[in-house]
Amino acid sequence: MADVKGLIRNHAIVVGGAHAGLLAARVLAQHFDRVTIVERDRLGPDTTFRAGVPQGYHPHFLLARGAQIIAELFPGLLEEIAESGSPFYDYGDNFRLKFPSGWTPKTVTGIRIQGFSRPFLEQRIRARVLDLDNVALIDGFTADRLLFDDPTGAVAGLAGRDTAGVERSLSADAVVVATGRGSKLEQWLRSAGRPVPPAKSIDVKVSYTSRLYQGPPDDGWKVTFAYVYAPHVRRGGGVLELESGTSMALAMGIGEEGCPPEEKQFSEFAESLPFPEMADYIAGHEPMSDLHRFVDHGDWWSQVHRMRRWPEGLLVAGDALCRFNPIYAQGLTVAALHARALATTLGRGGGARDYHRRAARASLTPWLMASSSDLMWDGGRGAGLLARLSHWHLGRVITRMSEDADLFRRFALVQHMLSGPGTLSTPTVLWRLARRPGSPVQRQG
Ligand SMILES: Cc1cc2nc3c(=O)[nH]c(=O)nc-3n(C[C@H](O)[C@H](O)[C@H](O)COP(=O)(O)OP(=O)(O)OC[C@H]3O[C@@H](n4cnc5c(N)ncnc54)[C@H](O)[C@@H]3O)c2cc1C
Repeated sequence: MADVKGLIRNHAIVVGGAHAGLLAARVLAQHFDRVTIVERDRLGPDTTFRAGVPQGYHPHFLLARGAQIIAELFPGLLEEIAESGSPFYDYGDNFRLKFPSGWTPKTVTGIRIQGFSRPFLEQRIRARVLDLDNVALIDGFTADRLLFDDPTGAVAGLAGRDTAGVERSLSADAVVVATGRGSKLEQWLRSAGRPVPPAKSIDVKVSYTSRLYQGPPDDGWKVTFAYVYAPHVRRGGGVLELESGTSMALAMGIGEEGCPPEEKQFSEFAESLPFPEMADYIAGHEPMSDLHRFVDHGDWWSQVHRMRRWPEGLLVAGDALCRFNPIYAQGLTVAALHARALATTLGRGGGARDYHRRAARASLTPWLMASSSDLMWDGGRGAGLLARLSHWHLGRVITRMSEDADLFRRFALVQHMLSGPGTLSTPTVLWRLARRPGSPVQRQG
């Protein structure tokens, strides 16, 4: 296949066969003759939880915007998932969040979502992608170096090793790096003598302890969850229903409010939450897994779009490009937005630079939403006026929305990336917020 003006489109390689890599491969398959996914883990049709995606042992809530893009890329997939044990439900009617100022109201929002584990979703997307005639998988293969074309500086492929340590090189016209939060791209660029993009980062220590259980929550809600909120509410958690009547219990802590690695402390943590549902649930249900712990360090965004010199054909997607504090549940959706940016770029005959500009635009709002809260954990010392104002405004919205179903619906549309943050700043909303101030989001009692 010949490209109009951007990339040569014979062979593309995707490094990393998880969420972002699979979505990218689906898009590339429409524009390249051949697509090869290389993945360090061994992957079979039944593979679910795996070493290469350690965060998969923790709840992964897919926002409605991410679900919409997945439905566009894989028609019928979400219905198939619903039939195999993850029915659709309305966000406001079935998902309750506890803030210090109260619960979110029970109301129909029109936002359709599903509950499933991260590996369950990935397994189904993987089956669809590997069913495409021009997509191949090389699993058990760890990429360790990029190859570049000498005269042009464009990417020319990669080299890596299989599980027996045998080295192999693969040539390609484009390489998409989707290697997640452990990405070695910077190292690969440095050792090839190429410039490394600058990065923005916000350091927030977040820890999760999660466990899979048999049986849905007893109270009829699909999700009951106490949310953390900067700067004082550093402890959260709850129970989320997943596929086929399983559920996950999660304890979440910010900073030194670390989550418990031990059984007894896990129960004590649940008992310390401002509602009894999580403690009752874990006391009354059969665990299906060990306790899993994950410690994360906030937000990080590689500024590839600012690079004047960047190898043609080298594209970065998902967490390898931009990753967020997981408490905001944005990563799967942002990776889907990156896939959409790739589809638009390839559809218009663009190259790496066009793609990275589009991916940056797609990442900006989630970044601002995450960073304006995360900059406030240390009391807002590193926060500028914009972050302080947005956080203050969000605090007012959260305080008021437990008694204002329309305000909650607007909050949910923004949270699910179905509307921009402006939805919470229209003159009507500002007037309602100004009229009845409500008490601020306070320290958890
Ligand atoms: C605790 C936790 C909870 C989260 N909860 C949510 C949530 O509720 N909702 C949400 O949307 N997001 C959530 N996220 C974020 C989400 O996990 C990521 O955004 C998402 O996994 C990104 O997908 P990815 O494909 O970019 O990376 P990953 O899922 O990390 O996948 C990277 C893949 O690359 C492979 N790989 C890595 N290096 C190589 C190599 N050298 N060669 C070959 N293969 C390689 C790995 O084996 C893996 O398969 C959470 C994250 C964490 C840490």
